[in-house]
Amino acid sequence: MFGECHAHIFMNGYDYKKAVRDQKDGPVDSLIREHFAAYRRNGITYVRDGGDPWGVSKRAMALAPEYGITYRTPVFALHREGHYGGIVGRSFSSLREFRSLILELKAQGGHFVKLMTTGILDFDRYGEVTGERLPGDEVRVLVETAHEMGFSVMTHTNGARAVLEAAEAGADSIEHGNFQDEESLACLKEKKTVWVPTLVTVRNLIGDGRFPDDSLRAVWEVQKKTLREGFEKGVYLALGSDAGAYRVLHGQGLLDEYHAFCEVLGESAVLRERLQEGESKIRERF
Ligand SMILES: [Zn+2]
Repeated sequence: MFGECHAHIFMNGYDYKKAVRDQKDGPVDSLIREHFAAYRRNGITYVRDGGDPWGVSKRAMALAPEYGITYRTPVFALHREGHYGGIVGRSFSSLREFRSLILELKAQGGHFVKLMTTGILDFDRYGEVTGERLPGDEVRVLVETAHEMGFSVMTHTNGARAVLEAAEAGADSIEHGNFQDEESLACLKEKKTVWVPTLVTVRNLIGDGRFPDDSLRAVWEVQKKTLREGFEKGVYLALGSDAGAYRVLHGQGLLDEYHAFCEVLGESAVLRERLQEGESKIRERF
């Protein structure tokens, strides 16, 4: 079975606000255990987290071995103050603060750095990404700093320009990576960056009613096209569903993500090999 390369053990897959209410005063073991049990039921033994602001993934590190799960976490994701990312982590307003947060995650036993370089897809405005992206030169300094401090870097990044800049900066994996172009895909290939497209964060919303279906379908069509191009170019690809996000359940999310890949690329031994290869890069680096 494949590993889940992008999850948030803190989230429940249906109501973010409830997840916050449940665990803002401290991690609730029964909830974390429920999520780990769902991985186990589905035969999943590797989970890489994307972070949370409430110390839930820190607690999860201690529980994962009971489930035979290799669990990797940045503890909290890092975002520039005033930019997107508060829902999964903490902010910095200077390089000095960025460094001290890395020291803190190190002290807490975190395994890698997660950096938010852009916002998320705006389903009400087709083709747009929310907020403002971090400038490329800043991303470069942040990624280099994390590397110098001994940590690999996962970036949350959307939009061709931002993906290109994060890959050039040396990000070890790029999450989401929606709205890419030929140039950004070529850069992922050249830099051997692993792309974790989290397809089901869009695919699973179609027909749900929370966002306009026309817009979701249009984004899904673009995702399919970009995934096909990335696959043909030989970009490293790995399965990560963003489990815990709305309509993406722990355990099931990874199966959904695999089916989404098969829907686009066709189920084949070659696809499975490619996904195993991408996952092995993730496991080596994180
Ligand atoms: Zn995520």
